Amino acid sequence: MKYISALTRYDRLSYAVDRHRSPILPEDPGTVHAIRASAKPDKRIDTAILITSPTWREIQRLQDTNEPQFFEDYQNYKSAICGRTVKVLLPAEFHEDDPDACQSCIAKIYKLSQQDSAD
Ligand SMILES: [Zn+2]
Repeated sequence: MKYISALTRYDRLSYAVDRHRSPILPEDPGTVHAIRASAKPDKRIDTAILITSPTWREIQRLQDTNEPQFFEDYQNYKSAICGRTVKVLLPAEFHEDDPDACQSCIAKIYKLSQQDSAD
């Protein structure tokens, strides 16, 4: 898996569990963005925009639990490869043929794959 699906927002439960209204997936998830499935920095992406990638541990947890990972603290927000801030990682690969896939992310993936094949 090279790119993980990610969302810019989440909803919250309508009732509190332990005084906390837990984050849940939005009914209408909207645009799905791509995030690098690697904690290793990629200079080609990172220099253009300030990118915050998921940590190795966060990627591992996503794969182990197969559950969405919510980032409620702004300090933990991540960046999609198009530069948008994302707050949810989905336990699913980013698919370019998904009708909700972000066009900017697709363009960026295409550009990166062109560079890869030129290497
Ligand atoms: Zn995007």
